[in-house]
Amino acid sequence: MDISNIINELGEDRELYFNAVAPPIWQASNFAFKTVEDFSKIAEDERQAYVYSRGINPTTDILRKKLAALDHAEDCLLFSSGAAAIFAGVFANVKAGDHIVSVKNPYSSAKKMFDAILPRFGVTVSYIDGKTIEEWENARQNNTVLFYLESPNSWTYELQPLAQIAQLAKKHNIVTFIDNTYCTPIYQNVIDIGIDIAMQTATKYIGGHSDTLGGVLCGSNAMMKKIFDTELMTIGSSLQPFNGWLLLRGLRTLPLRLERIHQTTQRIISFLDQHPAIEKIIFPFHPSFEQYELAKKQMKAALGLVTIILKKYDRSSIIHFCESLRHFLMAVSWGGHESLVIPRCTFIPEQDYNPDNEYHRHIRLYCGLEEPEYLIQDLEQALKTI
Ligand SMILES: *Cc1c(COP(=O)(O)O)cnc(C)c1O
Repeated sequence: MDISNIINELGEDRELYFNAVAPPIWQASNFAFKTVEDFSKIAEDERQAYVYSRGINPTTDILRKKLAALDHAEDCLLFSSGAAAIFAGVFANVKAGDHIVSVKNPYSSAKKMFDAILPRFGVTVSYIDGKTIEEWENARQNNTVLFYLESPNSWTYELQPLAQIAQLAKKHNIVTFIDNTYCTPIYQNVIDIGIDIAMQTATKYIGGHSDTLGGVLCGSNAMMKKIFDTELMTIGSSLQPFNGWLLLRGLRTLPLRLERIHQTTQRIISFLDQHPAIEKIIFPFHPSFEQYELAKKQMKAALGLVTIILKKYDRSSIIHFCESLRHFLMAVSWGGHESLVIPRCTFIPEQDYNPDNEYHRHIRLYCGLEEPEYLIQDLEQALKTI
């Protein structure tokens, strides 16, 4: 299906709402039935009917249909945040005694779930670099039920060979789960290569305006029914109608914004590449990137997030550079209209900062929708100050 068709038409039925071009926000918690017979049918599959907005709501349902199609998946579930989507997708697939193999640096909330919550329920996790199929093969145990992937991740961009991992997992009946937030289905279709659950946080690129949170899981009808019936409905972490409406609005311009961010990122990297104060650029499509070949093969594009290392080693120079930026806001998150900067040392106590540890010197930039020249001038003036 054409992306324009998905974004502009799929799931919308304007005649139901006075031919309004923008669908309304159905701000309703519950929906009434005329007959007991109709009412009783909801027991079969509550995903098929509007009953109660903890499950399905007409506003969020439009978004759900579009996002399933974008991911080439049979169905999609929407959550109040990306973290809620990760939690539900993983929990629905494990029980006491099970084992998970995960990439070493998954998103922070996933890591917390693996380290602090799942052990309470007797589920264990092994962390691996995960860059080669052999590592997944070796880490697999007889009780392994889930492979947790994030390719690329959102700080250092490590990738996993997705097609090979999906194949290995299928052979051993292991569920594959990927955090695909960096690429979105626009630049990486993971369901097509056999991954079972494609997760992305809608907070980042789909929302695109830094004004709402949301989480997405896509996969087979059976897998989505399982997660819906258990974790989604019992935790109650579903997406609210107004937030769904904002995300639908964001989705209309997703390809356009990604294209712009892609171009701006290229321009900024070219600028940083020739700048004498920059020691290293970490970016999946940079020729110096360790997994450059795999990135080119697996992803249609790399964009938005770029991690840099300055030639300075001291913590104060890093801080000075970041605080000197006028247009890159210092904040968490990314994917919105505004450019951002975040130095890793923010989260490393001063006494623990080790200049010989490259990781401690990371500065992550996010390129937003501003004019590229405006951002480059800002970087230039801040680099001059160190
Ligand atoms: C932000 C983020 C999440 C979590 O999403 P929330 O909507 O903030 O809960 C998960 N994965 C990645 C890669 C992220 O950047």
